[in-house]
Formats: sequence, structure tokens, C-alpha cells
Amino acid sequence: MSQVSGYAAKQAKAPLSPYSFERREPRDHDVVIDIKFSGICHSDIHQVNNEWGASTYPMVPGHEIAGIVSRVGAKVTRYKVGDRMGVGNFVDSCRKCRPCLQGLEQYCVKGATWTYNAVERDRKTATQGGYSNKIVVDENYVLRITDNLPMDGVAPLLCAGITLYSPLMHWKAGPGKKVAIIGLGGLGHIGVKIAHALGAEVTVLSHSLKKQEEAKKLGADNFYDTSDRETLKKLRGYFDIIINTVSVELDPNNYFKLLDVDGTMIVVGIPEKEIQIAPSSLISARHSLAGSAIGGIRETQEMLDFCSKHNITCDIELIPIQKVNQAYQRVVNSDVRYRFVINMKSLENKA
Ligand code: NAP
Ligand code: ZN
Ligand code: ZN
Repeated sequence: MSQVSGYAAKQAKAPLSPYSFERREPRDHDVVIDIKFSGICHSDIHQVNNEWGASTYPMVPGHEIAGIVSRVGAKVTRYKVGDRMGVGNFVDSCRKCRPCLQGLEQYCVKGATWTYNAVERDRKTATQGGYSNKIVVDENYVLRITDNLPMDGVAPLLCAGITLYSPLMHWKAGPGKKVAIIGLGGLGHIGVKIAHALGAEVTVLSHSLKKQEEAKKLGADNFYDTSDRETLKKLRGYFDIIINTVSVELDPNNYFKLLDVDGTMIVVGIPEKEIQIAPSSLISARHSLAGSAIGGIRETQEMLDFCSKHNITCDIELIPIQKVNQAYQRVVNSDVRYRFVINMKSLENKA
């Protein structure tokens, strides 16, 4: 076992504070990664606050991890010490079910092993996430980060990036397609960049005008403030695809009206409460409602390579870990441009 330092929530809604714990010695197929950067996803906040139920503590959050390999297990051939690696939302899965065999490990029938707030395949060892200086992961569940991109801006691609890339690819965003992204946060802003790179027309639906200028710079063709009642009237029947990234409950029935015939609304945001759909929202123009969770390992690597080719990284605010609790508050207030990333070197700072 090796000793690891990080930050953890010791109970629901508690501020994060320093925490030491152990990680396993590398097994034959493990890589040990010295974590350099860890993104703050809104899911971390939902889970620290137990908004989805079933949270366990102490909890070291963090599933947007970028670092450098410092050791490899005896049978690892693909990776070596010094390689730049990423880890996302899960660190294992059953490897045998149909989704796993199709490279859709996030939909593992037995349940993927989430990077934190979960247990390993032994069903007892708690997993702990990326707000820490080291992680040990099986080589089949790590991602390669190319040399041309900065690691701090890449870290959030491991969750935010793949969460938007996967549905954009699945529903074939590209030239001639009109895509709306509701919510210009961590997920939304990278969705704008990727959809733009895919050649789709991208519209941001934001709940104020504050981000209008920046949205254009990120690659948005259009920007609308949804707090203006006229917006939803103006855009009736316009979009082929709407991706809802918002972290609180919005009435989706208002947004179905913005879809063209056969348009699809894709839910990726996971608010605490359930949403209600009026049958007429679907029936009125053969609309579909869909959901999407992150992406499998193969697709996550494809996304990282796509971003490398198109020079896409996240717009970030780099913070020391000592500022994590203030950062959480700013995320909840939609006051981040557009992702906080923790510089893990700061774990060495005196508190
Ligand atoms: P985020 O950075 O906080 O972005 C959420 C955005 O929602 C905000 O920037 C804001 O955009 C909008 N919003 C916030 N409060 C609002 C309100 N009261 N009314 C209307 N709009 C509001 O969060 P994130 O990290 O992108 O995550 C977004 C959601 O996706 C979270 O629920 C998270 O758990 C979930 N998630 C899902 C997956 C998946 O696999 N499906 C993966 C990662 C995260 P504007 O200011 O532009 O309105
Ligand atoms: Zn996430
Ligand atoms: Zn499986």
C-alpha cells in the first residue's frame, strides 16, 4: 500500500479538508499516475452534497484527472514511466457484459466502478478520486494525452469533453445540423467548441446575457437569453438537436417546442429532482427524448485525439486545492469561466 494525500468531504455538505489514505500497490496490469491536475465537475458537488442519494464518506471527489505515469505493473506494455495519462469517471467494469464488450463500459450491466463514491470489483474497497496526488488504475481504463495540449486544459475533457462529444457523435451533429446547448458551464462550453469543430450550427441557450460575448468566441453561432420570454417563441421548431446540460430542474416541455419535426432532446444534466414530460411535447412533432452518460474508453480516447487534432482544450481557472470550497460555491452560482481545475502541486502548500 502507498500513502496518498488529498482532500475529502467527511460527511454530506461538509467543506472539503485535507485527508490521507492508502492506495494499492500496482498489480500486474496497473499504472500508477502522479496526478498533476484535477477538474471540478458539478457532479462532484452533487455527490459531496448527497443530492443523488447513496453518497459515502469520507469522499475524495474528482474524475477529470490528468497526470504522469510514475510506475507500471509487471505486465504493462502499452505505457511507461513519464507518459501523460488521463483518468475519467470509471476505473473498471465487469468486462464481460454486452455493453462492456462493445466498448460502452459506462453502461456496464453490473455497474461500472466509478472513480470515487463507489467500491472496487471486490465490492468492498472504497474508490477515491482525483483531488489527490496519486491514483492506481488498470491499464485498460486509462487514456493517453497527446503532447501538443496543456494538461490543465485537457483534464476536464475526461468528463465534460466526453459527455458532450458522445451525444454529438451519436446523434450526428455536423454540417447542416442545428444544435442547441442549454447551459454554458463546464459541459456546455466544451460542447460548443466540439459541435463547432464538427461543423454544426451551434446555439447557446443561457439563463442570462452575461456570457454572450464569450460564447461567440468559443464558437457559438447564436446566443439567446432564456430569461427573456420572447426567446422561446422566436426559436419554435428551429433545432435538430438540443442538449440540456443544466444542473438544476428546467421545465423541458418549454424546450421541446424548439425542436423541428423528428428533433431530439438529450438530457445530460442530472439535477436533484425528477423532470416531468407532457405527452404532447413528444407527440406534437415526433420528438425524441434521450439521455447520455459520459463515454466508453475507446470513445474517450477518440475524443481526446479529436481535441488534439482540432487544438481544443477547456477554458479553465487554475486554483490551489485550498480554494476548493470557494470554487464549489462559484460553480453553484454559475460564476466560473468555464471550469475550475485544481493544481495538485498545491497539496504541498502549508494550509
Ligand atoms: P456547471 O459548470 O455548473 O454548468 C451548469 C450550467 O447550467 C451553468 O453554467 C448555467 O449556464 C446553467 N444553470 C445553472 N443554474 C441555473 C439555473 N438556476 N437556471 C438555469 N440555468 C442554470 O455544471 P457542469 O459541470 O457543466 O455539469 C452540468 C450537469 O451535468 C450537472 O448536473 C452534472 O452533474 C451533470 N453531468 C452529467 C454527466 C453525464 O454523463 N450525463 C457528466 C458530467 C456532468 P448558463 O449560465 O449559461 O445558464
Ligand atoms: Zn463529471
Ligand atoms: Zn460490464
